[in-house]
Amino acid sequence: CGIFGFVTEHKESATLVVEGLRRLEYRGYDSWGIAALGDQSPLRLVRQTGKIGRTTAKDLEELVDPADVAIGHTRWATHGQATVANAHPHRSQHGRIVVVHNGIIENHRDLKARLEAEGYTFQTETDTEVIAHLLEWELGRTKTFHDALTRTLTTLRGTFALALVDVEHPDRVYAARLGSPLVIGVGDGTQLISSDANTLAPYTKRIIFLDDGEWAEVTPQGATTYDFDMAATEKIAEVVDLEL
Ligand code: GLU
Repeated sequence: CGIFGFVTEHKESATLVVEGLRRLEYRGYDSWGIAALGDQSPLRLVRQTGKIGRTTAKDLEELVDPADVAIGHTRWATHGQATVANAHPHRSQHGRIVVVHNGIIENHRDLKARLEAEGYTFQTETDTEVIAHLLEWELGRTKTFHDALTRTLTTLRGTFALALVDVEHPDRVYAARLGSPLVIGVGDGTQLISSDANTLAPYTKRIIFLDDGEWAEVTPQGATTYDFDMAATEKIAEVVDLEL
């Protein structure tokens, strides 16, 4: 029910994402999770049921080391129980894609059957897991990551806000939106992603509001936005007065 993430050239602790998710708590959730990685640090994945406010320093130990990119999620379960296994982020079978998702993938059963026929096995009961496998599968048959991503986004039916990382390129994060809110906070060498612009108040006033049917490739220097046909939308950050 909430997404928060960052990509940075300054190496940040993923505890920044913990703070962001706490600011999104008002949206309600039953479980949460964070993935953090960087060129010097392998993927760390922490997922728990319950409130992020109740976590201890020990729960977050793994996340403290600096990361180049991190994505986090608070889940309001729609498909599959509120368990650790179903908590986001979810990974693709061969580990290349890590994704968090708000919303519902309506054609997930159909996509699951197609991917199972291609040799994918599913680890969770969520509708979200198909996104990770589908993108990884598309990467195997398209020339560029952008092609694979737009093919994936146009195959999905339903509503989504997504943040995802390609583990082979931990210097960028991808964001996409259709029917669920998602914004990018523009900073100096650090870009943030959130479900709610107000949660970015401590960091920046410069916000890119993604439109429905838009996705972004976000690097520490800024975001490039596209529509689902891969045409650049050239979104410019707006300066907004945010309320925490
Ligand atoms: N449909 C997804 C799930 O059940 C995402 C739910 C949400 O928006 O938090 O895991």
